[in-house]
Amino acid sequence: CFCKLKGEVNDCSCKVETLDLFNNNKVFPRLKSLLARNYFRFFRVNLNKGCPFWPQDNRCSVRDCHVELCSEEEVPIKRKLEVESGHEEQKQKYFKVANEIFEESCALETELSALDKSISAERENDFQTWRRHDGELPLFCEIDDEQSSDAEYVDLSRNPERYTGYRGSSPHRIWKSIYEENCFKPEVSLQNLSKHYGKDTDSGDALCLEKRVFFHLISGLHTSINVHLSDNYHFSAKAGIGASSWDHNLNEFLTRFDPELTNGQGPERLKNLYFAYLIELRALDKAVPYLSQEDFYTGDQSEDGDLKDGILDLLSVIRSFPDHYNEKELFKGNTMEKKQLKAEFVQHFHNISRIMDCVECDKCRLWGKLQILGMGTALKILFSEDISTSEFQLTRTEIVALFNAFGRLSSSIYAIETFRKLSGQPIKIA
Ligand code: FAD
Repeated sequence: CFCKLKGEVNDCSCKVETLDLFNNNKVFPRLKSLLARNYFRFFRVNLNKGCPFWPQDNRCSVRDCHVELCSEEEVPIKRKLEVESGHEEQKQKYFKVANEIFEESCALETELSALDKSISAERENDFQTWRRHDGELPLFCEIDDEQSSDAEYVDLSRNPERYTGYRGSSPHRIWKSIYEENCFKPEVSLQNLSKHYGKDTDSGDALCLEKRVFFHLISGLHTSINVHLSDNYHFSAKAGIGASSWDHNLNEFLTRFDPELTNGQGPERLKNLYFAYLIELRALDKAVPYLSQEDFYTGDQSEDGDLKDGILDLLSVIRSFPDHYNEKELFKGNTMEKKQLKAEFVQHFHNISRIMDCVECDKCRLWGKLQILGMGTALKILFSEDISTSEFQLTRTEIVALFNAFGRLSSSIYAIETFRKLSGQPIKIA
């Protein structure tokens, strides 16, 4: 029971089943057909940035890690820039300003870290920079420059997120660095993080609501990735008999999420997936007026018309959801502490977006970057005070990431239903 969330993860008035029915019958089928369309299939990304945090020795050489890139000629969508440069230029200008302000905030944050961080009236001036963009330009992710020659198009339908065999120290380092250095850190081991962050009181060593929300989101994304690799798993051919195949792997799923096999943590992790889903659902709901004005341009008039109808249909379903997340509970009050917390929240998320460049499996890096950008875009929508002004802009890449990231969470919830049927047992979700 955790639909009507007012900020607290356990503050709820309806059941997981309600969300399952809503997603599996209404949202998932619509998203599936929308995401197969050209506008959403082609994602422009720079996969060659390199890890900014530690030297990397070897990139994954497993065949399933490989990403097939598209040449410009293969991409059946026209770039807006070539056609309506005014609109696109305005967006690029917005990102330039947002990036500059973010850099200023980071510099200030570093300076403050070296000083006493307690906030006093005299410190007011120090926060001028933050106040200047507070609520207006939260830049959650490092955005690849879409015009850069290093950015390339990837056809997502030819590079599905699935089992790649990326295991061991490299992904563990990434997850560890995300949870221990970039989620808000209580001093506990990785194994016990879920338990710790699950606390819903502000007493003792429990974290405040915003910090717990941050963890639930990241954990929900982690769950979604691991559900997908279990749902689309590579079974090798058995010594000379038959061919290798891709299929659901119930065993893999249970090993990761069964309460008994995960020291009780699996159900909590599954719940975090639903939490991330609700956050992105609400972001789309909030962005309906903005998205309804967007023309989802591909250069093919009839394709664009059909796509727009499909998007409006999905958005009206999203609007009809009765128990949307109430993001106003977060960063409530106009205090310096809340402003600082918000800036830290943005900065930690921004860091995670950079860690994605350290993922050594190309395909995992592709989907990791896309999903973090999609989640960051959702947060940008939720925490922008007014998205109806021209100050607020989303690039094509952000929109593609937003819908695809939501599509991943939706497809994970759908996959849980498949595992429920395969096991013939209820799946415990905390
Ligand atoms: P991991 O999933 O590596 O988890 C490490 C530790 O984190 C666990 O021991 C546990 O203590 C804790 N943990 C696990 N799940 C959660 C959770 N939901 N919330 C909180 N804590 C948790 N592999 C693929 O096959 N295909 C992919 O597309 C893919 N994409 C990836 C994308 C990224 C960004 C990363 C970092 C990894 C990706 N991987 C992918 C690898 C995959 O996520 C696992 O790391 C890998 O399968 C090894 O799993 P594991 O059982 O060792 O635990």
